[in-house]
Amino acid sequence: MADTPTDADIEAVTRQLGRYPRGMVAVGRRCEVCGTPLVTVTRPLVEGRIPFPTTFYLCGTAAVRAASHVEAAGAMAAYTEMVQSDPTVRSAYHRAHRIYLAFRHELARRLGDTEEHIEGISAGGLPVRVKCLHALMAQSLAMGPGVNPIGDLVLERVADEFSPSVCHCDAA
Ligand SMILES: [Zn+2]
Repeated sequence: MADTPTDADIEAVTRQLGRYPRGMVAVGRRCEVCGTPLVTVTRPLVEGRIPFPTTFYLCGTAAVRAASHVEAAGAMAAYTEMVQSDPTVRSAYHRAHRIYLAFRHELARRLGDTEEHIEGISAGGLPVRVKCLHALMAQSLAMGPGVNPIGDLVLERVADEFSPSVCHCDAA
């Protein structure tokens, strides 16, 4: 949560999501060219009353669209199969879940937020299924390669359509 959002960031994310990003405490990843937020970091308890497990939320318009294309192509079943049948991927995926929870726990501790309603819940289907590629891609973008194996695979797959090192921010 080192990258505190500016007013301009909040405005940009509001445009991307079509709503005000309540509880956004940091930018998780930015476009490397223009600096537009690609991932938000949201506190575990929004406005002191709304439990929010999806700490890393994909907001970059081109990134969201790219993840949706992979989902629409029916990739989730194959990714879930990979997570459940390949021992290496399975253990990496479980580790991604633990890292997600550890990050959120540290955020909760610093902000004084309770996690009582989201204990053990991360995002995207972690740690046993692949349910939302947006959430998994968001973790990969925020935490870097080698953390979430499925998020990493999706980023590789969409590289022609979206990459944090190429500016797609005006392509809305
Ligand atoms: Zn950009």
